[in-house]
Amino acid sequence: MKITIGHLYPDLLNLYGDRGNIQCLMKRCQWRGIEAETIAFELNDPIDFSKLDIVLLGGGSDREQMLVCEKLKEIRKDFKAYVEDYGVVIAICGGYQLIGKYYKTEQGMITGLDLVDLYTEQGEGRLIGNIVLESDLFDMPIVGFENHGGRTCINQCKPLGKVVYGSGNDGHTGFEGIIYKNVIGTYLHGPLLPKNPHIADWLILHALQKKYGTEVEFPSLDDSEEKEANDYICQRFLK
Ligand code: GLN
Repeated sequence: MKITIGHLYPDLLNLYGDRGNIQCLMKRCQWRGIEAETIAFELNDPIDFSKLDIVLLGGGSDREQMLVCEKLKEIRKDFKAYVEDYGVVIAICGGYQLIGKYYKTEQGMITGLDLVDLYTEQGEGRLIGNIVLESDLFDMPIVGFENHGGRTCINQCKPLGKVVYGSGNDGHTGFEGIIYKNVIGTYLHGPLLPKNPHIADWLILHALQKKYGTEVEFPSLDDSEEKEANDYICQRFLK
């Protein structure tokens, strides 16, 4: 079995080393004997979504998002078809905002891909800090770090989780991120997947099942160290 990961615009959308999430996906495939390859796309590269099993869209500053946004119009149709056909996507922070309809900032309007029913508007001050979520997709909590000026409204969509510590989508509804088909969007930055191996495996498993059928073999890995780290964060902030 083989998984191909498409990393969209790492030269522009790679805040806090979102790239580390790619390494985590690759390793967790390889540890299971699944071949894994990553293709990094620069802004002018053509993207053939039919060749991709997981797409990662990382975070960026408003300026970088503005630069990317012009290009998004050109890939929107193909990206939308990929999503509707249950293609797997992990979109982080700036990338999360870009899968929505728009991100309105004081400097102007950033038009998004409109892949999911959400929009973002810049609010007063930034929402920065550690964050802990409970998600009904997983037994283990989701832990991470957020830093965003945008407030995201997900309308009637399903959130990734309930905020038990931190701010989340908008700092007041108590929800974080979004799940739509096989798309996860979240404000949780940097080492999201190393800190949350259950999310990494959710992405890999959904990609494998789409490609090879629901009966695929998917052995579990020894995640005791990852679980300890995850638990440490929960203990630290939930006391
Ligand atoms: N520029 C966006 C915001 O401030 C996203 C930031 C990010 O990716 N950390 O809301």
